[in-house]
Amino acid sequence: MKISFLGAIGEVTGSKFLLTTKKGQKILLDCGMYQGKGLETDAMNRDLGFEPSEIDFLLLSHAHIDHSGLIPYLINNGFEGTVFCTPATRDLCSILLPDAGKIQEADTHTFNKKRSAQNLPPVEPIYTQKDAFLSLNSFVSIPYGKEFKFCDEVSLLFTDAGHVLGGAAVNLTVREEGEVIKRICYTGDVGRYNKRILKDPQAFPQADYLITESTYGNRTHAPIENAEIELLRIVKETCVVNRGKLIIPSFAIGRAQEMIYALDRLHNMHLLPEINVFVDSPLAISATDIFRLHTECFNDEMLESLRNDPDPFGFDKLHYIRTIDASKHLNTLVKPCIIISASGMMEAGRVKHHIANNIENKRTTILAVGYCSPNTLGAKILRGDKSVSIFGRKYKVRAQAKTLFSYSGHADYLELTKFLECQDFSKIKQTFIVHGEDESRAFFKSHLESKGLQNVCMPEFREVVEL
Ligand SMILES: [Zn+2]
Repeated sequence: MKISFLGAIGEVTGSKFLLTTKKGQKILLDCGMYQGKGLETDAMNRDLGFEPSEIDFLLLSHAHIDHSGLIPYLINNGFEGTVFCTPATRDLCSILLPDAGKIQEADTHTFNKKRSAQNLPPVEPIYTQKDAFLSLNSFVSIPYGKEFKFCDEVSLLFTDAGHVLGGAAVNLTVREEGEVIKRICYTGDVGRYNKRILKDPQAFPQADYLITESTYGNRTHAPIENAEIELLRIVKETCVVNRGKLIIPSFAIGRAQEMIYALDRLHNMHLLPEINVFVDSPLAISATDIFRLHTECFNDEMLESLRNDPDPFGFDKLHYIRTIDASKHLNTLVKPCIIISASGMMEAGRVKHHIANNIENKRTTILAVGYCSPNTLGAKILRGDKSVSIFGRKYKVRAQAKTLFSYSGHADYLELTKFLECQDFSKIKQTFIVHGEDESRAFFKSHLESKGLQNVCMPEFREVVEL
């Protein structure tokens, strides 16, 4: 059996790993899109590094676009197999992939205008919203904890990685003539412990080979327990003391719901000032509806709290904004308020408009609650650039920029280690560190080695390794 590392190598987007069994079955682990690399991104996404029609199965760890985003493209180019994932992942993909298709169409439209001005022929979007809807027909969902033999040689078991609703570690058991010969675990993305909504990352069966993420392989996060207190402090400082707007750019899925639930809890405890909270992201609203359907992913405290507050994502001061007109109307508000809007890295979506409209106001606070890749608008604001370009116009940065990374969707390196420590390290033959910048991977490699894990490697892009 061999594995090829086809994406998310030395970076955190574009996850794609290809397993080829002894009998030649090709099993793809994730089919993620590269994001945030400007013009280069499109070419990188179109060059998969394999022939889609040769892939037999796709095992999807979770719904985030950097793991699922190229599924419609894969299908358009000849993939006829099945996509296996958990039920919540399938439901999130049903909104995320069409949204990505819509973005591809809009971006291509803008790009083609520029090409037309240069007398160049138009290009096609990598896929359309319609392609994305059609791709959902290829999905089959398998719940957590149910071993499923999807081909003669390999069975899969999804275990909860505590990262996003439905997010799973993919555990594979490889058999030859009925005998188990290898166990492989691909962690997908791993979440933090002690979150408010989702379960902790769960222990997974002993593996011989590990493929682990390392987004925060060299960093630690502030304790999650203090996150709400810190959030409340920032809300009061911005909205009560400075009388300004608090803009929270947030990933539409996961982070947005955590922010909404945190504010809901503060409201229930009568701690939240009397200000309006706007969730201005149609995708986040649809995702919140999906959260309500998948209580199997909730932790015990969250389930318990549902008895007292059946709507953990709603309170009287919270307003969901769907239409563009209502979104534009927020610009006219002068009173302090909180606006939660996507995207998290501030590169796209309605939040970009809110930032453009408020970044030159010193009363505003922009609060990042998740990772921002280098070169994104989010990263530029956070590193303290004095001016930034938004929609082709320069803006002075007068707003305050703050971070609250306790809400990170990714475990820090100590939490990642805790997650991996459900394993007997002496039984692991090889560990591959993926999904992290190289500095992060290198630090995590030496940390794992110091914990007794042997044969830890940082595979290179498109490297093929025999297992
Ligand atoms: Zn993810």
